[in-house]
Amino acid sequence: MIKKALIFDLDDTIYPVKSIADQMFAELYALIKKNVTEEVYRGASKDLLTVPFQKVAARYAFDKKLNLEGLKLSREMSYEGIIEAFGDYELTKDLQIEKFLVTTGFTKLQQSKIRQLGIEKDFKEIFIPDPDKSDLSKKDIFQQIMQKYHYEPDEILVIGDNPESEIAAAKELGMETYLYDYEGKFSPALADHYATSFINLKDILS
Ligand SMILES: [Mg+2]
Repeated sequence: MIKKALIFDLDDTIYPVKSIADQMFAELYALIKKNVTEEVYRGASKDLLTVPFQKVAARYAFDKKLNLEGLKLSREMSYEGIIEAFGDYELTKDLQIEKFLVTTGFTKLQQSKIRQLGIEKDFKEIFIPDPDKSDLSKKDIFQQIMQKYHYEPDEILVIGDNPESEIAAAKELGMETYLYDYEGKFSPALADHYATSFINLKDILS
């Protein structure tokens, strides 16, 4: 089926989270470190690279005070430094197809990263489902995009780094999936297409 639209994830799909994490999470890391054991800190700080604060807080049973203070920090957090997109992201800019960005997280922080990357213009529409504000999932947003723009599921290719997030949501809706795995940590069997670089994306769409 000819594809009419691409839906991109942001974190670890367009740029590497690790490259900005220490600066972005400096205050949050310090807060957590002060309140938990070294072992919990090590696990929680690593998980924050891929999992929203709320889930990390639940996973490590943060107490109420740490939970509230962490949430407060996270809501106000933004990133004002330069963010470099993956080199191969450039290859996606020439593709003659509609593109959407769907990224879960705290609104202010996700907006700041999009701004610092300078990628707003690459997308027809940008969606930030924020667990702090609503229960909307990526799957809900994907459905909204289909309805609003009149796409069939098989006209959409969903591109992301997380088999349990956007890739799982796309599969549930019958959309084709593209697992972008720049660190080569997953099995290619987890998605319809698998790549460590966007170099093959053009061929998939042609
Ligand atoms: Mg991601």
